[in-house]
Amino acid sequence: MTKLEIRKKALLDRLKELDSRLHDIDAELVSHTNADWDEMAVEREEDEVLEGQGNQGQAEIAAIRAALARIKEGEYGFCTKCGVAIAEERLDLLPHTPFCARCAREVA
Ligand SMILES: [Zn+2]
Repeated sequence: MTKLEIRKKALLDRLKELDSRLHDIDAELVSHTNADWDEMAVEREEDEVLEGQGNQGQAEIAAIRAALARIKEGEYGFCTKCGVAIAEERLDLLPHTPFCARCAREVA
């Protein structure tokens, strides 16, 4: 396997993992809509946490899909902002990142 194929596999594995986790979150949120009134307040709080996790997951899924598209275009591994090659160590930690470390700091 080439380095890029390894990255692609890592991205696809992560996508699958996020996908099944989001399904679990959805299932839990749906089950809460059938709850008794007494439980509603507690579950509402739980729902907010779950929805937060869900939104975070959705954002990561979008970033992973974009990274997979860049692999296809042959643009993967380069910062989408300044075009510099992203450090391998950074891609090891964040294979879906579209930014080099410097631009990521500016964006954040
Ligand atoms: Zn950059």
